[in-house]
Amino acid sequence: MTEPRARWAEWPIKIRELEVLRREHVTPRMVRVTLGGPNIAGFESHLPDEHMKLVFPDPETGRTRAPTQDGDHLDWPSPFPLTREYTVRRYRPDPGEVDIDFVVHDGGLASEWAQHAPIGSTLWVAGPRPSRIVPPEFGFHVLVGDETALPAIARWLEELPDDARGVAAVEVADPGEEQPLRVPEGVCLTWLHRSNADAVSLGEFVTTLTLPEDTATYVWAAGEAGALKPVRTWARAQGIGKDQSDISGYWRRGRNGTVVPTVGERLKHTVTHLLVR
Ligand SMILES: Cc1cc2nc3c(=O)[nH]c(=O)nc-3n(C[C@H](O)[C@H](O)[C@H](O)COP(=O)(O)OP(=O)(O)OC[C@H]3O[C@@H](n4cnc5c(N)ncnc54)[C@H](O)[C@@H]3O)c2cc1C
Repeated sequence: MTEPRARWAEWPIKIRELEVLRREHVTPRMVRVTLGGPNIAGFESHLPDEHMKLVFPDPETGRTRAPTQDGDHLDWPSPFPLTREYTVRRYRPDPGEVDIDFVVHDGGLASEWAQHAPIGSTLWVAGPRPSRIVPPEFGFHVLVGDETALPAIARWLEELPDDARGVAAVEVADPGEEQPLRVPEGVCLTWLHRSNADAVSLGEFVTTLTLPEDTATYVWAAGEAGALKPVRTWARAQGIGKDQSDISGYWRRGRNGTVVPTVGERLKHTVTHLLVR
């Protein structure tokens, strides 16, 4: 049997200056910021793990050096501005609002912004960037991650069909960080608490799984880069390759989240742009 393959979605990337409409604590360590305003017009969101680049003001000048829109691609200024990647937790076309869930942690630019940005202030947002389309031939989903992956896992669970089968595991600090989620009947959700003396890691969790033989399994995993290494090793040992999985380091302990696109990525955008022209 040929294994089904996930494929990359494609759509243009847009830059927008959005307004901070509301803020609420979903849990003690998760802050939801709702963005909107007139520039949300034309915003689209299609896939559960879609993410956007949030462009922050320079702490010294207070100015944001946002990229400029050039057709379907963005021209980024040099040096590259301060950006962080965040998932689209929810988009409501009417009234035109997008929720972003921020994990609150010590010493983070985005984490601080999420807690203190004044209501009515603005933030430049690039994206969402296309992610992968997982075809329905994958009859079993394994969705695992820490709280930075929770916005995407919550969306996966909301968007899977009622008869979906799979397992999900989310590692959070303690039981107070659990969120009520829509979970299809055939999916088993486990919360892993770091506060437990005998806490089970994501890597240990996946080794307890027995995958079905009657259908293909898709593995989606995200979280702290080091914690995902054993998940990747386990997936490869099950014969689950890159086309049947997406295992992404969302942050790295001791290193900030500045990500400058590679020359290849910039070139790809330019080539797409030239083709579109
Ligand atoms: C595609 C993608 C989607 C993402 N979606 C989300 C999302 O929806 N919600 C979300 O909260 N995060 C998400 N992340 C992770 C987020 O981008 C990083 O955690 C980012 O580093 C946070 O930026 P910061 O400015 O707050 O901290 P930084 O300035 O980047 O880091 C400062 C310090 O904090 C540490 N740190 C960073 N993140 C955490 C954390 N979560 N817990 C503890 N320490 C941390 C760093 O190691 C560093 O030492 C996503 C990442 C990617 C790549």
